[in-house]
Amino acid sequence: MNLHELQKKDLNYIWHPCSQMKDYEEFPPIVVERGEGAYLFDVSGNRYLDAISSWWVNLFGHCNHRINNAVKKQLDQLEHVIFANFSHRPAIELAEKIVEITPAGLNKVFFADNGSSAVEVALKMSFQYHQQTGSCRKKRFIAVSDAYHGETIGALSVGDIDLYSKIYKPLLLDTIKVPGPDCYRCIYGQERQSCQTECFHQMENVIEQKHNEVCAVIIEPMVQAAAGMKMYPAQYLTKLREICSQYNIHLIADEIAVGFGRTGKMFACEHASVSPDIICLSKGLTAGYLPLSLVVVTDNIYNAFYSEYTEQKAFLHSHSYTGNPLACSVALESLNIFKEDNVLERNKSKAEQINKITKNLANKHPYIGEFRQIGMIGALELVEDKVTKQAFAWEKRVGYNICKLALKEGLLLRPLGNVLYFMPPYIIEEKDIERMVTATFKAINNYFGID
Ligand SMILES: *Cc1c(COP(=O)(O)O)cnc(C)c1O
Repeated sequence: MNLHELQKKDLNYIWHPCSQMKDYEEFPPIVVERGEGAYLFDVSGNRYLDAISSWWVNLFGHCNHRINNAVKKQLDQLEHVIFANFSHRPAIELAEKIVEITPAGLNKVFFADNGSSAVEVALKMSFQYHQQTGSCRKKRFIAVSDAYHGETIGALSVGDIDLYSKIYKPLLLDTIKVPGPDCYRCIYGQERQSCQTECFHQMENVIEQKHNEVCAVIIEPMVQAAAGMKMYPAQYLTKLREICSQYNIHLIADEIAVGFGRTGKMFACEHASVSPDIICLSKGLTAGYLPLSLVVVTDNIYNAFYSEYTEQKAFLHSHSYTGNPLACSVALESLNIFKEDNVLERNKSKAEQINKITKNLANKHPYIGEFRQIGMIGALELVEDKVTKQAFAWEKRVGYNICKLALKEGLLLRPLGNVLYFMPPYIIEEKDIERMVTATFKAINNYFGID
C-alpha cells in the first residue's frame, strides 16, 4: 500500500484523538514507519525530529536497543498475568525501586495502566480514606485554574481547561476551583525574581473556609503542562504542603507529565523538597513504550484500607492490564538507564544548550512574549503584542499553523494554543538541539512572513 492508500484507509476507519477529523481533509495523517533515536521516519522516507517525545512519553529515543532487548526478554518469559492474588518479578522489583526513588514517605505502590486512570485511583483513594477514618464530610476536591489531569470523567472533573471539559460540565464532580499561579500574566504585578507567591492567599482563603468538606488538593507540580507549559515557583508547593497537613487534606501530586527527570529533578516535588500524600506517575515511566501508571501513597493512607475482610474497607479498583509484566520490565530498564548513564546530570548541559540558543532568538522576536524553561521543557508563548501580552485569538490557530510549517522543516512540534514547546527525548544530541530550535524559529518566521 502506498502513502495515499494508507491515508485513505486510515480516514475510512480511524477516529484520531484530540482532533477535529475534518481537519484531516486538508492535512492527512503522517504515517510513520519506523523510529530511531530522536527521529521518526514516515512511509515516504521523510524524517522528523521528535521535539515532543511523542506526546511527552519518550525518554531514551525510539527503538532504544536496551529497552527493546528488555521487552524481548520479558516477552519470552511472561506477557501478562492477572494481578489480583498473583504477582511477578518485574512488578515487585519495580515497586521496590519506585519506593526508593520517590519522595520520602511514599511507600505503597498501586498499579494502573494510564495517566487518567492513575488520577481516578488517587481521587477514589483519597475520598475513601476520609470515609473510613471518620471525616465523612470531606467529599470534595480542590484543583487550580488551568489544571489538566486527564480526560476520563473523574479526571476531567479536577481539570480546568474548557476545551476538554466544557460540554461535559453536567456530568462532572463538584470540584472547588481556585485561581492558581499565572506567572507570565501575574495579577500581582510580580516578576519571577521578586515573587513571594502572593497568589497563594487565594488557596489559603478557600482552604480555611472549606477544609471540612475537602478530601484533597490535586496539582501538577512546577509545570501546568497541558495549560501551555505554565511554570510556577516551588514555594507555591511548599505552602500548599503546609496548609494541607494542617487541615487533614491530602496533597495529590500529578507528576504524570513532569516525573522521571523532565524538570531536572527525578520528581518535580523535589524542587520544593515536599512529599505529597499521593503521587501519580505514568508517561515517562515506561520511556514511551507501553501504557502503565503507578499511584504511590503513604503508609497512613494504605493503613486506612487494611483490616478484616468483613469490615469492607478494601480498595476494589482494578484494570485488566494492571501491572502488565512487559510494561514493568520496560520501566525497570528505563530506571537502569537513568542510573548507569547518569541521565539527570547529562541533561543539565542539554537543558543549558536549549536555553542559550532559544533565549537569544526569543528575546528579540516580535511575537514571542516569553520563553520559559525548566529542565528538559522549554516553552515559547506567542503573543500579538509583547508589551500588553495580548494573546492571538484562538480562531487563528497560530500555534497549529506554525507546527504544520515545522513539519516541512522536518520537525515534529505540537502546539498548546499559542504556546510552542520543546520536550525532546533525553538522548537528543547537540546538533539536533540546534536543529530543533532553528527549525522552530524558521517555522515561526515563515508563518509571520519575517525573513
Ligand atoms: C497526560 C496527562 C494525564 C493523563 O494521562 P493519560 O495517560 O493521557 O490518560 C494526566 N495528568 C497530566 C499532568 C498529564 O500530563
